[in-house]
Amino acid sequence: MTYAERLTLARTWLRDARHVAVLTGAGISKASGIPTFRDADGAWQHIDPHTFLTVRNFQAHPADVWAWHLAKYRLIRAADPNSGHRALVTLETQVRSACPDATFTVVTQNIDGLHQAAGSAHVLELHGSVHEARCERCEVAFALPDPDELGTVIHCPACGRISRPQVVWFSELLDPEVLGAATRAFERADVTLVIGTSALVYPAANLPRLTSREGGVVIEINPDVTDLTASCDLSLRCGAHEGLTLLLGLLGNAP
Ligand code: NAD
Ligand code: ZN
Repeated sequence: MTYAERLTLARTWLRDARHVAVLTGAGISKASGIPTFRDADGAWQHIDPHTFLTVRNFQAHPADVWAWHLAKYRLIRAADPNSGHRALVTLETQVRSACPDATFTVVTQNIDGLHQAAGSAHVLELHGSVHEARCERCEVAFALPDPDELGTVIHCPACGRISRPQVVWFSELLDPEVLGAATRAFERADVTLVIGTSALVYPAANLPRLTSREGGVVIEINPDVTDLTASCDLSLRCGAHEGLTLLLGLLGNAP
């Protein structure tokens, strides 16, 4: 089958889909000015995340970890959703209007909140949110202050203890409720889209395989080959916005 024929088939899959699941990674936010994790120009080049972004390092050096995290928070607070995030919302609208009881679940590894800002209705954040902190004594999460009101570390507003960023660090477990909801979305999906992730971080990278196992189809959008490519039904070798526009088939009406 030619590429054009497979693309036509992919549009048919989406047109007939009742349940769509989407896994996104840092690649979809790159056009918003947020560097990816592993790209050569990635902002993570100055630290070794596997040792820096850990509970152990945070306990030993909370001010250093907060400084790194708050720099990321400032960058993200200044960023806007891009045409890739918006194209995904257009696709969601199309799927929902074609089938009133359709589900469309965006499961993201990103911590930037840009899918919600763009208007995606159902977003599951596997790795937490850069916009929040958590007090482990009070067991509450709370929003960070505006960037111009930040100190060097963030204290719990209730008990005054140093809080921690509400994100998942290396070797930490994912929130079981979030992972459970994501698992169900990928298991029941007729069509799964995998956009802008190198698919190297688990358990996130396993989710699209659940769709394949249950008989659904998986479409990847990524300029590079990934570990998931071989198990995908179609891979679009391009950026997020371009790939979604191809799938939408609305070239004259792209978001
Ligand atoms: P990654 O950096 O490992 O992979 C990014 C992928 O995006 C690559 O495969 C790359 O080829 C692809 N890509 C580059 N430009 C693209 C574009 N325009 N359109 C589509 N794809 C493009 O990122 P990851 O797989 O998300 O894993 C990294 C981890 O780091 C995640 O756990 C995430 O929590 C975290 N992270 C989050 C952010 C964010 O919130 N924006 C940014 C960096 C890292
Ligand atoms: Zn507290």
